[in-house]
Amino acid sequence: MNKTLRKPVIAGNWKMNNTPKEATALIEQLKPLVQGVDCCVVCCVPYVDLYAALDAAKGSGIQIGAQNCHWAQRGAFTGEISAQMLAEIGVPYVIAGHSERRQYFGETDVTVQKRTRAALDAGLTVILCVGEVLAERKLGITGAVICAQTEVALAGVRLEELSRIVVAYEPVWAIGTGETATPEQANEACAVIRGRIAQLYSPAAAERMVIQYGGSMNEGNAAELLAQPDVDGGLIGGASLAAEKFAAIVRAAG
Ligand code: PEP
Repeated sequence: MNKTLRKPVIAGNWKMNNTPKEATALIEQLKPLVQGVDCCVVCCVPYVDLYAALDAAKGSGIQIGAQNCHWAQRGAFTGEISAQMLAEIGVPYVIAGHSERRQYFGETDVTVQKRTRAALDAGLTVILCVGEVLAERKLGITGAVICAQTEVALAGVRLEELSRIVVAYEPVWAIGTGETATPEQANEACAVIRGRIAQLYSPAAAERMVIQYGGSMNEGNAAELLAQPDVDGGLIGGASLAAEKFAAIVRAAG
């Protein structure tokens, strides 16, 4: 596998943190720290922070993402936001299928597929989260679980659309727990996903596919995780809320 074919993507998932004013301040702090890095830097912020974040990031190379989108273009879906709405205000990225949405908000593989489809149709790039829970890892079915999640989410996604998909392998037991997958575990899972992409599309498509690791990545463990041959970046929760810590992870990638 030729890692040089892929530009690492380091994405922060702020979750339900930061007001618009705090979003502006954090991005202003981050800008000089990540200037000139050779990787793609994304901040996925709460919906109400999007305008402030887009404004603060203007001209800096930092990309802004949302953390979810609905699959319908419009309609009676109180509290939801469509992919078109995000696209129209200039948001380029959206997360789909984060494990917290699967765990707390009834997200299923099928709804992740619908959100992914809608986001692609609106021109967005999707950070598609997959990952096993601890019981599945203990049963030895991690590969089967993450391949199935990936395959369902990508149902109907065309080869030429894959450049707008970033897969984030996020073992659920490592998210927000302080427990990180070992570099070998992270690499093995990312390689399994890449192998499935090769079967579903082509080996060349798999070689170009950006596959991140996420789960308690921080400034101390990032370099070793990101050095793995199949790990092309990170989706970072907690450590993305502090500019210095997030920038250290970005610098480890690029
Ligand atoms: C995440 O929210 O996707 C995540 C990986 O969180 P944390 O880095 O806090 O484990």
